[in-house]
Order: sequence, then structure tokens, then C-alpha cells
Amino acid sequence: MPDKLLLIPGPTPVLPRILDALAQPTVSHVSAEMAADLRESCDNLKKILFREDGEAFIVSGAGTLSMEMALLNTVSIPRDRVLVVSQGYFGSRMSQICQAFGITHDLVEAEWGKCVLPERLQAQLGGSKYDVVVCTHVDTSTGAMADVGSYARVVAKTGALFIVDGVCATGGIPERMMDWDIDVVLTAAQKCFGAPPGLAILVVSPRALAKRRRMDGIPAYYSDLLRWLPIMQDPTKYFSTPCVNEIRAFAEATRLILREGVEERFKSHDAIGRAFRGMLTALGFGLFTDPRFAAPTLSVPVYPPGVEDKAFRAALAANGVVVAGGLGDTAGRVFRVGHMGNLVREQIIWAADKFEKTLARFGRTFPRNAGIRAAEEALAR
Ligand code: PMP
Repeated sequence: MPDKLLLIPGPTPVLPRILDALAQPTVSHVSAEMAADLRESCDNLKKILFREDGEAFIVSGAGTLSMEMALLNTVSIPRDRVLVVSQGYFGSRMSQICQAFGITHDLVEAEWGKCVLPERLQAQLGGSKYDVVVCTHVDTSTGAMADVGSYARVVAKTGALFIVDGVCATGGIPERMMDWDIDVVLTAAQKCFGAPPGLAILVVSPRALAKRRRMDGIPAYYSDLLRWLPIMQDPTKYFSTPCVNEIRAFAEATRLILREGVEERFKSHDAIGRAFRGMLTALGFGLFTDPRFAAPTLSVPVYPPGVEDKAFRAALAANGVVVAGGLGDTAGRVFRVGHMGNLVREQIIWAADKFEKTLARFGRTFPRNAGIRAAEEALAR
């Protein structure tokens, strides 16, 4: 157990063997060793995202860069029209990126804590013609998970390209790109993969890549997928120096996921999500997210009366568990607990004990070990 268990919604705790991979001596960015790690990472990503006919891209950056890359490589500016489906802070960010590049777009938004229902998406798509539809799988501000499988079916009927922001989902929640007809999943290394932050990651369908090839120029240089494609196919070629150590660590993180089995990993994320929600409610927290949309990857507890946000989070951190504050209007009313990546049962029970002990100091009462018992019950089911 580390000094402090990082239970923020990303970055997530990094296993020693992934850190060991990061700490190996830096090799040439065009060496055979590096090429093998990058190729394997790309192949593993395509398996994790069920898009073995597609192309994977891994470049230095973070999730916001992958959002930008997804839009710039699929949207013909200014001709194309984009629909942004938003359920919170990161959906709004997608709209801000559209604005920054002069992308014509409409926004269909859910109230924070909920998601846009597929029927509402269908109504919006029926009324207008869009070339690209983009949504957030799990909005990390609200803990709400969109039904991307149903969205994809609705979007497929219109012929639009479908982009999913999987930053808070990929590797922990199914994103069956081929079955569901998803064209781009954009994501990052630091959440369900359990790797350190520093990579912008995309998996792209043949159809989306064909569209990029048909577009003359795009307002991007580093973010242009066509500059990266030859590198991803043969990493001994040079375009821009990749972060060698990061990629080695990411390769190890993806190996661990495949060794565990992706379906097993989805199940364990689901169980761990239920364990955290059970533990938090047993201790008297409310839950901000509408239960119909509760994501397996993070929870957003609402403070009971008398528990002040900053004081509680500081006391919890002093007890060894680091959580994140609320974003936007929810700041002060809620906090955010990440539970994705490579967490194990012992860490969850340990954290439950720390939540309980910390909350008791704020004068809250509940049956002894109520949190631990609720977590154990959910994990046993
Ligand atoms: N999308 C979602 C759903 C996210 O949770 C985040 C990060 N919390 C981002 C995009 C942006 O990623 P990054 O912070 O790595 O730029």
C-alpha cells in the first residue's frame, strides 16, 4: 500500500511493474526495442477497443490533444456540421474545441448527473443533417455514463461519423467499436489503463481514415493523423520524438489488461463501482449521478450536512486517501472518487475503512464497519 492511495478520477495508481517499465534506460526513439513496444501497444489497443480493422495512434500529449485530433481529422472545416452530445464539463470542452477551430456545431446537452437519451439524440439527428457526431462516454465531472451502444445505432442510420471520448472509460467499460459502429475512440493513458499520464491515444476506423485522406488540408501539423500513420505502422521512421519511456510503460499496461482479459476487466470495474457506491451510501453520502447512468469508473458523493468539502478532503488525505473536488457548479457540494485501472480488493476495503474513520471525525454516525461491509457485499456478488 503506498503512503497515499490516489482515488481521483485520473491519474490512477500505477502498478510497480508499470513504473519499472517507465524507469528502464531511455532508448533511441527509432530503435527496434521502441518499435516493438509501440507496435505492440497499437495492436493491444485495437484488441481492447474491438477494432482490429482500424488504426491506433499513440502520441505525446493527453486526452485534450486526442479530443482535438479526433475533430480535426474527421471534420471538414468549414463545410461539415458537427453535433456535440454533452453531459458535463468534458462535453462542453468538446464544444470549446469546435469553437476554437471554427467548426460549425450544435450542442445537445443533458442536465449534469444525467445523460442525453438515445431518443432525444434520434430526434435531433432526424431534424438536421450532421457529418460528425461526438459524445463523451463517461463525463468525469458528473460520473454519468452515456449509452454509446444505442447512440451508435442511431447515428449509423444517418451515415455520420461517430466519435466517442473514452478518456474516463476505455479499458474499463466496453467500447465495441466494430460491433457498435464507432469510428473514433479518443482516450488517454492515465485512467482505466493505469499508466502514467502523457499520451494522447486514438483508435480510428477505416471509414474515418478514408475521410481524412479525402480532406485536402487540415488546420493541424502535429495533430495530423496522416503524418503519424507511417510512424505507427513502422515506428523506426521519424516524425516527432515519441516519449519512449511512457510508451514502454503503456505497452506493459496494455499487456496486463489483455492478460487479465478485457471482459473480466469490464466485470471487475462494474463490481468495484457497485462496491464504492454501496460503501458511500452506507456511510450516509448521497450520490450526485442519476442511478440510471452511474458509471463504473468514478462516483460523485454528495456531502451530508455538516461536512465541509475542503476540510473533509484534507482529513481523508491525511488518513491516506486522495480524492478530487467537484467541478463547475458542483464544487463544494460533492467530491469525486475515481475507482478505475488496477485497483484491487484490498485497496478498496482499506479505503472504505479510511472513509469511515475520517467521516466519524466530522460527527457523522453509522454502524461500525458499515462501509467495509457494504463494499465487501458488492464485491462478493
Ligand atoms: N475527456 C474526459 C472524459 C476526461 O475525463 C478528461 C480528463 N479528466 C479529458 C477528456 C481531458 O483529458 P486530459 O486531462 O488528459 O487532457
